[in-house]
Amino acid sequence: MTAHKWVYLFEEGSGDNKSLLGGKGAGLCEMTRAGLPVPPGLIVTTEACNAFYDNDKNFPEGMWEQVKEGLKEIERKVGKGFGAAKNPLLVSVRSGAAFSMPGMMDTVLNLGLNEETVQGLAAQTGDLRFALDAYRRFASLFGEIVMGVAHTKFERVLDRYKAQTSGGKDTDLSPEDLRHIITAEKQIIIAEQQAIPEDPYEQLRVAIAAVFNSWMGRRAIDYRRVNRIPDSLGTAVNIQAMVFGNMGENSGTGVAFTRNPSTGEKKLYGEYLLKAQGEDVVAGIRTPHSISELQKELPQVYKEFASITEKLEVHYRDMQDCEFTIERGKLWMLQTRTGKRTGAAAVKIATDMVYEKLIDKATALQRVTPEQLDQLLHPTVDPKTESVVLATGLPASPGAAQGQVVFSPDEAEELSREGAKVVLVRQETSPDDYHGMVAAQAIVTARGGMTSHAAVVARGMGKTCVCGASALEIDYSQQQFTVDGTVVTKGDWITVDGSTGRVFLGQVPTIRPNLGQDFYQLMTWADKHRKMNVRANADTPRDAKVARGFGAEGIGLCRTEHMFFGDQRLAAMREMILAEGVGAREKALDKLLPLQRGDFLGIFREMAGLPVTIRLLDPPLHEFLPSVDDLLSELAELKMAVRGAGTLADMDKVLDEIDEKRTLLKQVIRMREANPMLGFRGCRLGLLFPEVTRMQCRAIFEAACQAQGEKKKVELEIMVPLVSLSEELRLQAELINEVARKVMGEQGTSIDYKVGTMIELPRAALMADQIARHADFFSFGTNDLTQTTFGLSRDDSARFLSAYIEHKIVPEDPFQVLDREGVGQLVRIGTERGRATKPGLKVGICGEHGGDPASIAFCSEIGLNYVSCSPYRVPVARLAAAQAALAAEAAAAALAAAEQAAVEAGKEGSPAISTVASD
Ligand code: ADP
Ligand code: MG
Ligand code: MG
Repeated sequence: MTAHKWVYLFEEGSGDNKSLLGGKGAGLCEMTRAGLPVPPGLIVTTEACNAFYDNDKNFPEGMWEQVKEGLKEIERKVGKGFGAAKNPLLVSVRSGAAFSMPGMMDTVLNLGLNEETVQGLAAQTGDLRFALDAYRRFASLFGEIVMGVAHTKFERVLDRYKAQTSGGKDTDLSPEDLRHIITAEKQIIIAEQQAIPEDPYEQLRVAIAAVFNSWMGRRAIDYRRVNRIPDSLGTAVNIQAMVFGNMGENSGTGVAFTRNPSTGEKKLYGEYLLKAQGEDVVAGIRTPHSISELQKELPQVYKEFASITEKLEVHYRDMQDCEFTIERGKLWMLQTRTGKRTGAAAVKIATDMVYEKLIDKATALQRVTPEQLDQLLHPTVDPKTESVVLATGLPASPGAAQGQVVFSPDEAEELSREGAKVVLVRQETSPDDYHGMVAAQAIVTARGGMTSHAAVVARGMGKTCVCGASALEIDYSQQQFTVDGTVVTKGDWITVDGSTGRVFLGQVPTIRPNLGQDFYQLMTWADKHRKMNVRANADTPRDAKVARGFGAEGIGLCRTEHMFFGDQRLAAMREMILAEGVGAREKALDKLLPLQRGDFLGIFREMAGLPVTIRLLDPPLHEFLPSVDDLLSELAELKMAVRGAGTLADMDKVLDEIDEKRTLLKQVIRMREANPMLGFRGCRLGLLFPEVTRMQCRAIFEAACQAQGEKKKVELEIMVPLVSLSEELRLQAELINEVARKVMGEQGTSIDYKVGTMIELPRAALMADQIARHADFFSFGTNDLTQTTFGLSRDDSARFLSAYIEHKIVPEDPFQVLDREGVGQLVRIGTERGRATKPGLKVGICGEHGGDPASIAFCSEIGLNYVSCSPYRVPVARLAAAQAALAAEAAAAALAAAEQAAVEAGKEGSPAISTVASD
């Protein structure tokens, strides 16, 4: 029996087996197999890492022997000996999980050097200075990365010696300087740990174990938690023959993207440094040069590099991010991977690659994530601004937003409820701050990184956030922060740019980004693939216009009560709610009628030719009435004012006001509900006060007639809210039809219209077969359906829900991502039962979930006709719907292929052998 294979040479590994070889390893294998110049090497597999943990942190049996055998192969290929005094082989030890992951162990370069081999290296290259430079790098890297000595200690030594040279750069260090540095580095290590092993094999053994151990390091575990990467994947270890970018004038190292990662422009984009090694470019040791200069400095090398990267891009059919090193004029490739990019670049690269015939349209659609598209639609700080940057932190969550500074989450909530725009500024955030984050326009923290609580939560909410702006000195007790002497106090305005990490003082103008040709092209492709329609939730003519501009195919939800939040309108609305008796109510309704009609007309004009779903009034009454507490304190103030009144007439006036307030207070108290969200709202209002429904329908039909008269095609759908009994819908439909007939008679025209209902209560979903008898369409109101299915009020859940999410009691916020299992089941049942009564019943969804990609995928799976979301989410929904349809096609094709294989296997009389390709 042969031993398990723990080690693969680069030429042995399969380039698509990222889960076994890690991303970096798979890329190295692929490049080696393609015949590109890659220094030879081997990969210790992720399986070996997992076996290491199963084996009490010991290497699994046979692994170390296989590593040594592999090294022999590498020695043979490069003609050098590992640990040999003459002509020594040096290697790099690189970690590499399936996903590139911060928190994993950094790379150790030049491993294999000791007091003896460093002499050999000097003799072999005829360059003592180079050999010593390699050794001082190795000693500090090994000390820091493998032995855990603080980086700054080594940095200080290097800086001290650099400062003594005439030029002040690392390249100015003499061999003597380097000797001193090495001695100092070794002393630092011995002071804290034992010495670096002299035996290169021992160095290698310790380094491999250190990579394995870093997989379960704190930083790595944290990162995986946040990004939902399972611990069971393990990391691979890459051991690769060194090539040297620090070997004189025509040597160097660099990184480059095959296209510009921020704009997507098709042009090599990157940086390099001559006489440098490893991370020098990224670490900012010296200022690197743009890759285009390489064309002048080393034209042959540039030409080869450009042609290799082009081949890599064609091979992977995606933008690549490559690392390379030049050793004495010879180019070596050290890494290739799919390059990270901004939303704008993602869209441009995907469409360009279709034009270049590298990928098909379906692939292009899958190359852009809904989040990237969303990024494109966020406002940004006007690039022409001349405002000075107050501080710069991490670009944790994109978009630009502004508001008045507050330091406490409670205050953020309070002020925003009063209509203020606030930015929450905190040292760092915790789940206790959640409600304040929800209320704020943006969040700024002084501490914490890209995966801190603030960053993760803000990204989840799509809220602008800058993290780790460490220049901010926050003083909670003084309610202020200071940056470089500038004091910013509570209430001051700041502008936050989450896409770049900048924080500005004051209100800096922001702009909506210019969506280019590529965006519209991609959207047309999405429209061809998707099966569902996308509509928008829009309450005003202006929203309707924006929605149509983004490609909405109608309005899925027009909330009529949102039309009443203006001052003058609110008064009429209150009058209507508080009216005692039909007569008084009708009088109030008469004031509302023309306002409503005007709004509807505006919407019909904007949406001519597209369906418009108007929901009848669903006012949780408390939202329109002043609170008892407010009224009581206003009364108290008025009573004080009586004393202060100068004249009897003044006093009289105040007393009248007191009387008015008291009447209002009495009325409000009488109407008060303990659970207004489950109270007198929705169709319940229209059933008990039919005159309300009548007025609304009159406004709707009169507006429709007028629009039609203007040759605007009206596709009207009237929707009855919060139905739980089929009788409720039947009665409301009767009323709607009655008004329709009347208005059409008066106007002498006819209007096509449909009557449907929101399905937003569990009973409605269950009784959908009966309800469908009176409905032309259904629209799932998944906000209320989520509240009532969970028995969870959205207004009160913010605090504990975040703890639920953190402790994984619930996987995601059910108000953001539709709960497939529970709420989703009701949506499925409601759709099935509704269509059992009325085949072909049009069904959509209009809750917040209509703009969430995962929820959209669910709606597509269960065969809904449309989703409706906020205007700015419409493009995201169009893309998500296309991606859902493509995923369904792929799944169906895979199933068909599997069935076909089973049939063929059956013919041959043997079971089908399934080869499972890991990603
Ligand atoms: P990371 O995952 O942080 O990119 P890498 O393992 O890719 O880490 O390497 C860190 C740096 O060291 C990179 O610049 C890389 O090109 C360089 N490097 C790694 N292995 C070698 C090698 N065998 N020869 C020369 N440079 C190397
Ligand atoms: Mg690194
Ligand atoms: Mg790298």
